[in-house]
This record gives sequence, structure tokens and C-alpha cells, in this order.
Amino acid sequence: MPSATLRLFQNGRIASADSKELVAADLLVDGTGTIVAVGTGLTVPVGAEVIDCAGSVLVPGMFDVHVHAREPGQEHKETLATCSAAALRGGVTGVVLMPDTSPPVDTGNLVKSARDLIAELSAIPMLQSGCLTKGREGKEMAGFSGMASRGVPMLTDADRAVPCPDLLRRCMEYARDFDLLVTSHCDTPALTKAGAINEGRVSYRFGLPGIPAISQEIAIDRDIRVAQHTGAKLHLQQISTERGLQSVRCAKEAGTLVTCEVSPHHLVLTEQDIRDYNTHFKFNPPLRPLADVEALVAGFIDGSIEVLACDHAPHTEFEKSSEFGTAPFGAAGLETTVPLMFDRFIRKGVFGWDLLIERYSAAPRRLVGLAPVAIAEGARAEFFVFDPEGETPVTRETMKTKSPVSPFLGETLAGKVRGTALGAAWHPQG
Ligand SMILES: [Zn+2]
Repeated sequence: MPSATLRLFQNGRIASADSKELVAADLLVDGTGTIVAVGTGLTVPVGAEVIDCAGSVLVPGMFDVHVHAREPGQEHKETLATCSAAALRGGVTGVVLMPDTSPPVDTGNLVKSARDLIAELSAIPMLQSGCLTKGREGKEMAGFSGMASRGVPMLTDADRAVPCPDLLRRCMEYARDFDLLVTSHCDTPALTKAGAINEGRVSYRFGLPGIPAISQEIAIDRDIRVAQHTGAKLHLQQISTERGLQSVRCAKEAGTLVTCEVSPHHLVLTEQDIRDYNTHFKFNPPLRPLADVEALVAGFIDGSIEVLACDHAPHTEFEKSSEFGTAPFGAAGLETTVPLMFDRFIRKGVFGWDLLIERYSAAPRRLVGLAPVAIAEGARAEFFVFDPEGETPVTRETMKTKSPVSPFLGETLAGKVRGTALGAAWHPQG
């Protein structure tokens, strides 16, 4: 709700990517959305709205590079309005939208149309990515020059790999020439087939077709090799196994321009967590064994994985209520990621706010050429107020997304985003 009010955020503690220490301070945000003063004991200006932040942490707004907003074309799953409301509830102040809308965004004109829709309907900035291949069909290159001239942050076929290595090579050559980032969903369809969960003991026990780890690992190796050959910049989505991560580490040591992301569910859930054929746990890449999860957490902490991205993939409960084998992959993630990271890691001392801010706010912005946001005098207000003593119930009633599909549904996560400041707007969360 934009307004021209002066706001004083009083007695908070400011977190940053650069320091493990939280700095006690008040923040004054003026009617233009600029942080005009930072310091302890600031006097309350006449007419200012005071927001008591005692006990709370002020955190730079998060930025998620892997979001499916479904509009246009699948508004029964999600809309730009509900997606941005979910983001604000989760402390996320910017996202990159995947191009797998209907129609898929594969030309400069469609990028423009998407940007017009975003400007009209979204409460937060959203960058629209473009497809690598026409219609995401993996047959012909999409319109690279038109999309480049519209300033797309990345090109990706969004949850689909480009099956033909020759086509991928040409895509990467053009991407290199246009200085565009190629983002890969690493998957080998010939191995994944109709798989539903990780191939192994759990898939045998469930009697479900498995997705072998090598399906992702071979694709990671292939895409890295093509990036090395072409000199293109490559970002790998949703690393999910230790071997895959090892490939990324080796490529980085060899000087390859490669980055990678992990999803929150791959950091906190294993295949053992799937119970009763609950399709809210159905992801591609699938949930993996504990050893992989531990390796991913270690890689997240040591920086081998530089980006956290939630793969917000809304579906209706009806769609998810079909049998496990046929239900669509994915779940909502924008409003649970920050409380989940706090609940599972930060409050237990596994890592601090500094690391989460680096992986989920600073690094993803740098990935797409944006400057990281800071809570500092003169900066635009872009932060959220987080109460470590609060709670985030994950329920149909509280979720802002149209898709109350989450493996954490029914849980109450520790900590709560009390509200999100974005420019002159303050979005309190009930
Ligand atoms: Zn996705």
C-alpha cells in the first residue's frame, strides 16, 4: 500500500551479507522510499508512523531467480498479483520469472508484453526471462536478438533441458555473442522417462518409477562441457546430488563461467520424508538421500553453491491430488523459504543471516546484473522486518499464493516476516 508517510523503524537490528553481527539501529524512511537516517535513538519526526522493531531483525529484501508466476495462460494456478503477494509475505522483493507461460516467452515482443503485464499487476519488480528454444520445444532457437534488445536477464527452457547438444551449442554461441546468461534445468529425458521420485530403495518400496541421479549428473556434465567449448556463461538450476556438485566444483576450478543454485526443499528434505504418496513432496529434480542433502548444505555454506532459489511452482490442489505418478512436479516456495531457512539453520546456529543474505539476496542479484541491496543511509528502502520469536503457520488460510501446495503444509515454522518495505510502500503481514 504505497503512501507518502514518513516511517520510523525503531529499535531493530540490521543484518547484512558482510557481517555476522547484527547492528542495533533505528531507520527512517521518507515518503519517497529512501532511507534518510540510520542510527540509535533517532527522534521521532512529527507525523511519522512508528514501527516498533524491538527484538526483530531488519533484513535486505531477498531476490529469487527461479519463479513460475503462471500468468498469462494458467491463472488458475497463480497470478502475478498472488505471486507478488506471496513474495512480500516471504520477504522477497524481486524475482526472475521463468518463460514457461502460455504462450511461452520466446520473442522480444512477448518479453515486452510480459513486462507490460508485470508493470500493471505485480506489487514487486519482476524480471522476465526468455526461452532458449521456440515454444520450449527444443527444436529451433528462440528469437535471441529481440529478447536481448528487451534486456532479458537470462535464457532458459524452464524445467526442460535442450535435448540436442548441437542445438544447445548454437544457443550458447549466440548467448555468448549477446552476453546473455544461459540457465539450465539439468535433466536427461531419456533417463528420467516417466520417473516420479529418486530412483533407489524408496522408489522400489513405493513401487514408483525412479529418476536416477545420473539423469541430472550427466546433464550437468554435458552443459558444463558445452559452456567450456563455447565460452558462454552458464547457470545450473537446482543442484540435487553430491556428484553433480562435484562436477560444478571441478568446472569452477578449471575457470568455467558457471554458477549454480539449490532449492530450499533440497536442503532440508530427503526422499525418506515422502510419506503416504503425498504429492506435495513430488519435485523434479526429486528429493534425494541424506548423504546428498548433507553435501548440498556443505556446498551452500562453503560457496560452491552461490544461489538459493525456491523454484516457486504453483499448481492447484486438484492437480496435485491425482496419483503420485501422474501429479505435476513442484510446489509453492516464495513465502516459506525465509522462515524455513531460519527454522532449520539460522536459529540452530548452522549459519547466520549473513550467509542467507549473500545466497538469497546479494548473489542472485549479481547473477542477473543487479547491484545487491543494502540497508544504509541514502539507499532505497528494500528490506523486511523479521521477528525471530514469531511463528509462520503454513496453512491454506495464511498462504497468499493461489497454490497452497507445500511439503511444509500443516507445519508451524519458527520466525515470522512481520512486514516488507519496498520503496515508499510498507506491506505489513497479519
Ligand atoms: Zn522451475
